[in-house]
Amino acid sequence: PQSFLGATIGGNIAENAGGPACVKYGVVKQYVLGLEVVLPDGEIIDVGGRTIKNVVGYDLTMLFVGSEGTLGVISKAELKVRPLPPQRSTILAVYDDVVTAGENVSKVLESGVIPSKIELIDNWVINRIEEMMPLGLPRDADAVLLFETDGIPEAVEKETERIVEIARKFGAREVRVAMDADEQLKYWTARRAGFAAVFGKAKTVLSEDVTVPRGQIPAFIKRCREIAARYGVEMNIIGHAGDGNLHPSILTDVNEKEHYERATKAIEEIIMAAVELGGVLSGEHGIGLEKKRFMRRVTDQRVLEIMKGIKRLLDPNNIMNPGKIWE
Ligand SMILES: Cc1cc2nc3c(=O)[nH]c(=O)nc-3n(C[C@H](O)[C@H](O)[C@H](O)COP(=O)(O)OP(=O)(O)OC[C@H]3O[C@@H](n4cnc5c(N)ncnc54)[C@H](O)[C@@H]3O)c2cc1C
Repeated sequence: PQSFLGATIGGNIAENAGGPACVKYGVVKQYVLGLEVVLPDGEIIDVGGRTIKNVVGYDLTMLFVGSEGTLGVISKAELKVRPLPPQRSTILAVYDDVVTAGENVSKVLESGVIPSKIELIDNWVINRIEEMMPLGLPRDADAVLLFETDGIPEAVEKETERIVEIARKFGAREVRVAMDADEQLKYWTARRAGFAAVFGKAKTVLSEDVTVPRGQIPAFIKRCREIAARYGVEMNIIGHAGDGNLHPSILTDVNEKEHYERATKAIEEIIMAAVELGGVLSGEHGIGLEKKRFMRRVTDQRVLEIMKGIKRLLDPNNIMNPGKIWE
């Protein structure tokens, strides 16, 4: 995840974390082969194993992945690791319209090229990043997409050419290919600074983690902007566009009651807009405390009962992260 400087493997597994490189490499669950878990009654169990294939009974390994610390403490993990790619290329595509940027995500993926990363930064965030640390991002752009492709040099070269061609053909006003590692680092530093840029600008930030089917990114961005305008609140979007996982954020102040109420209503509509477009409440941050009530609203009753049954079976005294996911 983008929080890799501080996040732990246990936390990554407990949240089934993702990050920019999920477009090509998937999320944490794709790398977890087995786990040692301390159950709430103190017993230690091993689930899964060391093999790539394993269909021995129910998949309890995946039950603990993404369980947000509500079922047991992950104390060891057997992980699949991959060699680092020998070459990377970063492409910055600049758009006058964020919706066109959203459309470009599908165009690239439909072409058969699977970049390792496709990240979106909108105009608001571009400008805050440039205020914090001038990196040369185009301040007048409505949005930029940052692509990374990695692998063997020949493939990286071809994929870079293809991404540049598609971005130009489908509406990018400018496309830059980072010339060296320093320029690559500059663009990814900008992306990593995105959350700090947003959270540093308001007393309270309501930031979401919804995920929509990738083909719905343009429709979702339009809905977000329409909702923010209707409620008269300041909204920005960054996110893992290649996964359809976007972080729309609304700036407010919890102490300004009227504004905060408006902001809360706007963010709720944004969440429900994502669900209406076939999306989900959370792509990587989980349900935790904040999204409990939405989970009740959008999840089938029978499914909720099954999940609660699992929680009761493993943690009958509700000592594991009480209040998270469940009341
Ligand atoms: C600036 C910023 C950027 C982020 N970017 C991303 C991103 O790109 N992708 C992403 O997926 N997430 C992101 N996150 C969210 C978060 O950092 C990740 O979910 C991360 O995986 C959490 O790991 P952690 O070690 O910090 O866990 P914590 O935040 O400490 O814990 C998260 C939850 O997991 C439980 N937990 C922790 N360790 C264990 C364990 N060993 N066993 C059982 N339960 C456990 C905790 O009780 C808690 O409920 C971001 C967060 C921030 C602040």
